[in-house]
Amino acid sequence: MLAPFEKPVNVARPFLPSLDDFRDGLKEIWDNHWLTNNGPIVQRFGRELSNYFETDNICLFTNGTLSLQIGLQGMGIAGEAITTPFTFVATTHALFWNKIRPVFVDIEPDFYTLDPEKVEAAITPWTTAIVAVHVFGHPCKLNVLADIARKHNLKLIYDAAHAFGVRVGSKSIAHFGDMSMFSFHATKLYHSIEGGMLTFQDSGIKGIFDYLKNFGFENEEEVVMPGTNAKMNEIQALMGSMVLKHLDDIIEKRRQIAAVYREKLESVPGIYLRPELPKDVRYNYAYIPVEVDEKEFGMSRDQLYKELKEYNIYSRRYFYPLVCDFACYKSVAVKDPLTVARKVAERILTLPIYYDLDLDDVQRICDIIIAIGSKERDH
Ligand SMILES: *Cc1c(COP(=O)(O)O)cnc(C)c1O
Repeated sequence: MLAPFEKPVNVARPFLPSLDDFRDGLKEIWDNHWLTNNGPIVQRFGRELSNYFETDNICLFTNGTLSLQIGLQGMGIAGEAITTPFTFVATTHALFWNKIRPVFVDIEPDFYTLDPEKVEAAITPWTTAIVAVHVFGHPCKLNVLADIARKHNLKLIYDAAHAFGVRVGSKSIAHFGDMSMFSFHATKLYHSIEGGMLTFQDSGIKGIFDYLKNFGFENEEEVVMPGTNAKMNEIQALMGSMVLKHLDDIIEKRRQIAAVYREKLESVPGIYLRPELPKDVRYNYAYIPVEVDEKEFGMSRDQLYKELKEYNIYSRRYFYPLVCDFACYKSVAVKDPLTVARKVAERILTLPIYYDLDLDDVQRICDIIIAIGSKERDH
């Protein structure tokens, strides 16, 4: 048996700037004596992100979930939204908090994004939006979804929580659809400890989002809508700003890690990597999703997941169970058989990838997976 890792290898680990740099940044916050409520560092961070995304139509929040929740509310989405069950549960929660009924439809088998044919088939007179997810940073079928949305007069909203840094053609992924939500949570490839952002097409809506994240305050005496509190604070913005400076390095390192996984696992029986993305996509290597075929590999995905823990490797079953199978959504009627999503949820495993994961350790993770499989198959 190969030796287990001495320390746990988790599926993700946040990038941290140097402590000296962060301390210098904190000094600025102490000098300003300003911690939250649209402080100078949040404002500067907003300008940096505007430059990065090449748009002024952005709004910062304290996390991704509240960004999406407020985004849906600000756009007036109601009735039904067609969405994916193969996502993090917060996508659906954001609908629930707005009393929007989720209509779950199936995903396509290569990149796990919404299947446009299933979307079109699920449209009813109550449908007002498509809420699609660039799951694992894989771009949705952007043009087809845009055509469907235009034809049926629906809003097209993207949960882009996994897609920071992804570009399609000459544009950031943020430029597609009516609105996109990005999460800057510590487990994502890019983070601000916690944080979130909306990007949107209609510049007129920015004021609504600003009200909604700050109690609806117009000024000391006027409250113009029943908003909530979803403001980003100065320390989050400081972290986000520092991590942004390293983003190219972070993505390059992840590209190298992904290349090792591909080289080592491509030929392993029963382990299926995702196909190469289309040539015009600049990917961010947010996750390493693989499918495990029980017969060919020699054991089930769940057995492999457990066995890897014995080696101190903590992979994750993203996304299993499907959102529609959680107790709180069991009562939602699902007409689509979700054939692909169900199959993928049973087979999916995401493997460790983070900035300071050594390439030698990636080799070792692959060798362990190979050894586990061949041991079972030789029985
Ligand atoms: C992380 C995540 C969210 C929620 O973002 P937070 O910043 O953690 O609130 C929403 N959708 C997806 C797909 C995510 O992975």
